[in-house]
Amino acid sequence: MSEAKTPPEDLKFETLAVHAGMEPDPTTGAIMTPIYQTSTYVQDDVAQHKGYEYSRTDNPTRTALQTALAVLEEGRYGLAFASGMAAIDTVLRLLKPGDHIVAGNDLYGGTYRLFTQILAKTGLAFSFVDTSKPQDIENAMRANTELVWLETPTNPKLKLADIASTARIAHHGSARLAVDNTFASPALQRPLTLGADFVIHSSTKYIGGHSDMVGGAVILNNEEVYAQLKYLQNGIGAVPGPMDCFLALRGVRTLALRMRTHCQNAQQIAEYLQTHTAVKEVYYPGLNNHPQFELAKRQMAAPGGMVSFTLHAGEPAARLVALNTNLFSLAESLGGVESLIELPAPMTHASVADSPLAIDPGLVRLSVGVEHAEDLIEDLAQALATIN
Ligand SMILES: *Cc1c(COP(=O)(O)O)cnc(C)c1O
Repeated sequence: MSEAKTPPEDLKFETLAVHAGMEPDPTTGAIMTPIYQTSTYVQDDVAQHKGYEYSRTDNPTRTALQTALAVLEEGRYGLAFASGMAAIDTVLRLLKPGDHIVAGNDLYGGTYRLFTQILAKTGLAFSFVDTSKPQDIENAMRANTELVWLETPTNPKLKLADIASTARIAHHGSARLAVDNTFASPALQRPLTLGADFVIHSSTKYIGGHSDMVGGAVILNNEEVYAQLKYLQNGIGAVPGPMDCFLALRGVRTLALRMRTHCQNAQQIAEYLQTHTAVKEVYYPGLNNHPQFELAKRQMAAPGGMVSFTLHAGEPAARLVALNTNLFSLAESLGGVESLIELPAPMTHASVADSPLAIDPGLVRLSVGVEHAEDLIEDLAQALATIN
């Protein structure tokens, strides 16, 4: 029930996205896995059940989602959680007091807060380094380093880490490598195939894709570690409800085609911003002046839907632009069909203010949606015109 069924190997990602974890409902033939809105399951005899006994432990809608995510990440096992943070927290509970973790220094703000404010109190030690430099990761490794934590591309500066070389560095010692693949999604990169031990998702973002649910996931290959994580998933109970699993699974079905448009639009917008005289710097791995442009081409199918930039006129102008777009809504989060604009420093990354990870207050981050690129560029053009 728990191990992902492997569909035929020669199927392309687009096909897998539509079919992975899809089995007609055994009682009705319903093509979509129903929302099994139930807490418990009637047993045939004492302690004799059909694989489901209580919905914290297992729920068929969640099983379908977990299977689909495992298939798409080319992993053996998937586990779904109530949020991305719940997924990250559960992975970190595999560690014990005294263990050391090397993590990126351009990290999702909530992950940094979980590590430094909540988990540091439980006796875990963290080092934060520039993970776009494998040498910096290597230098930070200690005898007690049990985990290396990567985001690639990073949030919000869109730096890349070389997953394969980082896996080699981690495995040279006793550490495992976890990759938060939220920004790329499995449509663009599959870290397990490059040597990572865990893939983590905030499925709230590209996997759900419609800004209508919150969820998280962990995908992995190691059977023993899967059993430990499954135990923790049930024991801690940060599990998603069946409705949210259904919405995430529905998102998965269009992931490939949404990502294609996100990436095409983001590329055009990044190129447009680069030519605009008010714009100081554009951060996008698809621009040939991006420091890891070559790595992006090697490691990712496309450079993603996120674009960040700064303005010559700094923070006040950045705030004005963010207020004056019409199609780009001023909001946190990312990965939905609609375009969003935000200033990470006072918004998504407020929890890293006054820390070594602090973000340029004038940085603007775009989550480029699937609208028409020309409409989006026109919207940015009129917003940028308001600062002159
Ligand atoms: C949003 C996000 C998270 C946290 O996920 P939630 O679903 O909001 O709990 C973790 N990592 C990255 C990269 C994110 O963007």
